[in-house]
Amino acid sequence: MKKTLQDLPPSLLSGAAVALRADFNVPLDRDAVADPSRIERTLPTVGHLVSHGARVVILSHLGRPGGRVRPHLTLKPIAAHLGRVIEGPVSFLPCSAGDPVRDAVAGMARGSVMLIENTRFLGGETAGDPALADDWAGWADHFVMDAFGTAHRSHASTDGLPRAVKRNGGEAVAGFLVAGEIKALGAVLRDPRRPYVAAVGGAKISGKIDVIQALLDRADTLLVGGAMANTFFGALGLETGASLTEPEKWETARRLIDAGGSRLVLPVDCTVAAAVGPGLETRAVDRSEVGPTDAIGDLGPVSVELFGRYLADAGTVVWNGPMGAFEVEAFARGTLCVATSAATAADRGATVVIGGGDSAAAARMAGVATRITHISTGGGAALAFLAGKQLPGIEALSDSAPT
Ligand code: ADP
Ligand code: MG
Repeated sequence: MKKTLQDLPPSLLSGAAVALRADFNVPLDRDAVADPSRIERTLPTVGHLVSHGARVVILSHLGRPGGRVRPHLTLKPIAAHLGRVIEGPVSFLPCSAGDPVRDAVAGMARGSVMLIENTRFLGGETAGDPALADDWAGWADHFVMDAFGTAHRSHASTDGLPRAVKRNGGEAVAGFLVAGEIKALGAVLRDPRRPYVAAVGGAKISGKIDVIQALLDRADTLLVGGAMANTFFGALGLETGASLTEPEKWETARRLIDAGGSRLVLPVDCTVAAAVGPGLETRAVDRSEVGPTDAIGDLGPVSVELFGRYLADAGTVVWNGPMGAFEVEAFARGTLCVATSAATAADRGATVVIGGGDSAAAARMAGVATRITHISTGGGAALAFLAGKQLPGIEALSDSAPT
């Protein structure tokens, strides 16, 4: 068991400099936060630290700046947004490490909040540079992890920093968001009510292959949709025409098909058009009848029915990745139907977990988000956790005393 914020005595926080790793990797529309849900879910942690008189220093990444300063990926607008929602001042420091950060932390008042600049402006972040972790740990008395979405990455701020803080005698604990994720996902991992049905989709299978294998071992049924299914079609020797597919993964997909047997369920039909875009005429075709100029954009109606029947009988549902290009209305049906079927399963008592920003957005689009048992703030992290993998950003935290 890992320590959580709840385990820390208030006296420990009072006046202490606390490094809070948050996941403020939110979609921006120019300078405005387009979807603040990730920010909002970390507010209980920020509020707790502020009310106990900590000096709260927030670290986050935004996008993939590749280790250099990219002005359009500054966290400055996020500091402004955070200040409005917590109704208190949030200072922004346009610097990610070194003396300017240390000096600014030294000057902070109790109960104040500072956001420092995008950690990925520094190459050492994704490289997991120990010198960078030590630099931050130089001013951080304690560390709180609330960035579940990046907990599966071994980066300087998610892995090196908590370990360095512990070496210096401080505590490294899970914030309320991460503690909630561990609780909800941990229940599914340890003791899923059967039948356990996992549904995966999205654009690519590269990056999700390991997890698919592990889910196949744990779930009773694995439904595969989205462009990911096209790669399985390719592995079966089916024509995929102009569809998004990953030929270099056909062999792996073939192995998964053989290993999964009847537990791996692929779509039997598809919705196709001349391209996956708006305003085009669509057709439903059997998966063996996709033409050389067709692009697959969604499940076909028979597959929607088929997937819906599996979900209707499920005791546990885990869903990650849209079943089609749901941003385009003509290709949204498979994804919205899966969202609705999952919500109906939850209504009659199934545990339903949705991971990934795109799938969560689809659940909101379908108007069913409030009926879902748990919507994870992580996509890849939630899948890795449910696959039974250890997440570096959680492993690095302090262990709680055995009771
Ligand atoms: P997640 O973020 O849930 O892990 P991904 O980022 O891998 O999922 O994929 C989400 C994207 O996949 C969506 O933008 C969606 O449009 C796209 N997608 C799903 N199915 C298809 C398809 N058949 N053709 C093209 N794009 C697809
Ligand atoms: Mg995505």
